[in-house]
Amino acid sequence: MTDTINKPIIEFSNVTKRFGILTVLDQFNFSVAQGEKVTLIGPSGSGKSTVLRILMTLEPFQEGRLTLADTSYHEERGKGPFQASERHLREIRKHVGMVFQSFNLFPHMTVLRNVVEAPVRVLGMARAEAEARAIELLDMVGLADKKDHYPVQLSGGQQQRVAIARALAMRPRVLLFDEPTSALDPQLVGEVLSVIRGLAHEHDLTMLLVTHEMRFAREVSDRVCFFDKGRICEQGSPEEIFGTPKQERTREFLSSVL
Ligand code: ADP
Ligand code: MG
Repeated sequence: MTDTINKPIIEFSNVTKRFGILTVLDQFNFSVAQGEKVTLIGPSGSGKSTVLRILMTLEPFQEGRLTLADTSYHEERGKGPFQASERHLREIRKHVGMVFQSFNLFPHMTVLRNVVEAPVRVLGMARAEAEARAIELLDMVGLADKKDHYPVQLSGGQQQRVAIARALAMRPRVLLFDEPTSALDPQLVGEVLSVIRGLAHEHDLTMLLVTHEMRFAREVSDRVCFFDKGRICEQGSPEEIFGTPKQERTREFLSSVL
């Protein structure tokens, strides 16, 4: 029983990621348990987005192994990127949804179609069923009445809430958020955080969140990881990391952002 609860759903083992001569992750090890809500904090350029992008299969890596929900693949030294088979990548992608800083909605599609399109095309869901589910999700993020609008007609906060509904429409087991409120005007941050806060109560959903909203991180995370220069420099409960950080680097970082 405990075994199933604590089983990692995400596991990086000795993952090395380079961009040309720049090594961003050097033998990186990191795992997240099913249902766990984990926040990555840390300075800009430290590799946080790279971790999420590798998980979303948007970036190949050079060495090591990535396991996600029992699908595992590795990139072997010297063989170059994307040795993983397309089948493996598809299998991984099926379980993961991602919400980006810049919303990334399809500008030429209505809100409803933005949410409906992937389940229909990728999962082969019947359009009527996908629409019914999309309306439920839009209702959950408070935007059912905007279903026939185009992204350009919405505020940034509303667009980001649609992006969250769109990610959820694929029924991911893991949801990744890369600074979901960084591009928003301050008065729009709250509405997006409140949707994410609601998701954090979903027991089975695994969440990995990169954010600079420290109060929010403290409130929703089971675990906070302070990430610096491609490694987890310190991790612990929000109380430990924000209350009694042990590493000097963590203290410096927190005093620069709080
Ligand atoms: P963070 O999200 O913590 O700010 P990133 O993961 O975006 O950090 O970036 C980590 C490092 O990798 C940075 O030095 C960044 O400049 C570099 N980097 C990220 N993406 C690319 C890319 N596509 N090509 C080259 N360098 C990149
Ligand atoms: Mg980033």
